[in-house]
Amino acid sequence: MDREPAIPEEIRQIAAQCRHYAMCKIDFLETGLCPPGEARPYVSFFPQGRMDLCDGLAKGIIPLTEAAAEIISSCNLCGRCDKQCHFVTGMRPMRVMAALKEYLDVYLRQGRKVVKIEEDERLRALRKIVGKEWASNDPAVLFTYANDPFPLASIRMPRYVALPEKRDEIVRMIQWAGDSGVPYIVRGNGGSVFGFVFTDGLVIDLNRMKGIEIDPDNWLARVEPGVTSFELQKKAAARGLRVNTAEPAATVCGNIVCTGTFSTWANVYGVGADNFVDMEFVNSRGDVFRLNDKSSPNVFSFEHAVLPSPGICTSASVKMHPTTNDEEGILVPFPSFSQAVSFARDLSRRRIGLAVGVLGGHYLSTFMSPSAELAGRIRPVLEEALGIEYMVFVVGDSYARSAIAGMVPAVIDNRLFRILMLGLPRLAHRQWEEFLRGFETDRYPYEILFKEEMIPFLEAILSPSPETFAEAVDEDLWEFYARLYRRSHMTDLVWLNMFRIISSRMSRNKHMFAFLIYVPLNRMDVIQHIVDEFKRIGDRHSISNDYGFLTPLDLGKRGILEYDYYIDHTDPSESVKIAKAMIEIEPMLDGLSASVKGVKSLKYIFSQGCSRKESWLYT
Ligand SMILES: Cc1cc2nc3c(=O)[nH]c(=O)nc-3n(C[C@H](O)[C@H](O)[C@H](O)COP(=O)(O)OP(=O)(O)OC[C@H]3O[C@@H](n4cnc5c(N)ncnc54)[C@H](O)[C@@H]3O)c2cc1C
Ligand code: SF4
Repeated sequence: MDREPAIPEEIRQIAAQCRHYAMCKIDFLETGLCPPGEARPYVSFFPQGRMDLCDGLAKGIIPLTEAAAEIISSCNLCGRCDKQCHFVTGMRPMRVMAALKEYLDVYLRQGRKVVKIEEDERLRALRKIVGKEWASNDPAVLFTYANDPFPLASIRMPRYVALPEKRDEIVRMIQWAGDSGVPYIVRGNGGSVFGFVFTDGLVIDLNRMKGIEIDPDNWLARVEPGVTSFELQKKAAARGLRVNTAEPAATVCGNIVCTGTFSTWANVYGVGADNFVDMEFVNSRGDVFRLNDKSSPNVFSFEHAVLPSPGICTSASVKMHPTTNDEEGILVPFPSFSQAVSFARDLSRRRIGLAVGVLGGHYLSTFMSPSAELAGRIRPVLEEALGIEYMVFVVGDSYARSAIAGMVPAVIDNRLFRILMLGLPRLAHRQWEEFLRGFETDRYPYEILFKEEMIPFLEAILSPSPETFAEAVDEDLWEFYARLYRRSHMTDLVWLNMFRIISSRMSRNKHMFAFLIYVPLNRMDVIQHIVDEFKRIGDRHSISNDYGFLTPLDLGKRGILEYDYYIDHTDPSESVKIAKAMIEIEPMLDGLSASVKGVKSLKYIFSQGCSRKESWLYT
């Protein structure tokens, strides 16, 4: 017999780098979704699942089963995943998809047997509940539900995966799990990447439950648990409304339950219980309850402990907010962190603006750049040549905009932002330093460059256009990026922040391990101490690390701070480093939390996201 076909190691390594942020499960670039994924919404049929499948086959963890053959042959090499994944991570998964097809071809040509997995009794019972097509015990499917890049957990193969379509199917599955002693876990899009959605038993994947009902008179959207933030925001925006959402591929229900959905909009729309009017759950006995029922468990309270969630959320009535047609996104540059934080706090307590966040050089350069290489070149230009260490991002109406213009010496409004972004490849030249040195002045370079009268000069030098912008990507993607950036919303700061399609670029170089801490915003000393400690500990363990963002909450009394560690999740030595760093980080945060009011790590809020924010911000 011929030598067994093999997937090249180079291809396996690309596949193993999949970040699992589920961005290929939403149509954020209007390319259309992966067609087989859309038709069969198991993660296994989406590009993300195919990447795992490739890794599992190449390592010999799973055999070539019937489901593997079906998944691989359903790919039509349309290339949509290449564009979506490149936009976020810079990776080109098409090589993986093509290699999988080649592998299957050779395998079948050699007359090898495709492994058939027999249905067992439990699977039969599950299929009676959800239908034959929607439950599986095939290892090729199971493997795509077995891990994420979280460095402190390893592969955990479930025995079954099932995709219910209705609440009553969930109820019956929970009762079945109780009777048969099979543990279960519920999964939205698996984008928490904290090892939360894995089990040795049954994974309940909610991706077939996609109903959205808009009730405009009551400012509500009722969503089923498979609806993503992106999908809901699209529906809301079509009516001139907005929902407080965070990551676009996160399910709305999963995000509320898991983290309470914090975002830059949390400044005005809040977090936790502020997000919804009511939610429906199925508890671990299979009973259905609504949070607004008097007899329901009190999930609005908070306990300083790692707790399980109240159950499976089967629908949420989420608040929708009005917008005005003069909203604009602006960026306010600052030379230091403390000045930026103080300004953000001031905006919040004066009730100026809607979304507010303090961003640092890493996020700014990475979010704006279509490639890692350009992000690497633009950051020193921002920081060293232009003197911008931090920027406060604000979405506000025209009144907020004029108030802010009167508070600071320089502002990047949306028109200037568009010029800078579309001219980014030309902005990334160090000659700015020399040019700006020519202005003998005690003002910061950005104060000079971002004056209104400099706009014609900037336009002449940067040649901002979708074509200029596209120069920064691989040549075969030029046309695609140029077409993409002809759409004005791709440079509209309000749209970009509502739909957040660029935030997961933060992990373009490596997967992020994010720390989120609620902080008292009037205690700059505490905030700076936390940032310094994260840096010191990260550096000590040779972990790439950087400041993430900070958003004010509740009229500037509190805020939420993100600091990120970046790791190659495929390198076991990086997990060791994280584990060692955690030994120092946890007592540091617990100690601060015990001694300073308002310091609370998100770790204790996970699964208590329905609680009132007051019960963790002020206790
Ligand atoms: C790049 C990146 C940036 C992020 N930024 C933010 C941010 O700014 N703000 C923020 O809030 N989060 C953020 N997150 C975290 C992430 O979006 C949330 O954890 C979100 O819950 C993921 O949604 P999901 O549907 O993929 O949930 P999953 O990962 O599938 O599930 C998360 C948890 O919720 C449970 N769960 C899921 N659905 C339900 C349900 N219907 N009922 C009960 N429990 C359920 C799961 O069992 C699991 O414990 C970020 C994540 C990434 C990758
Ligand atoms: S190339 Fe294959 S995996 Fe990628 S989007 Fe098209 S069908 Fe899906």
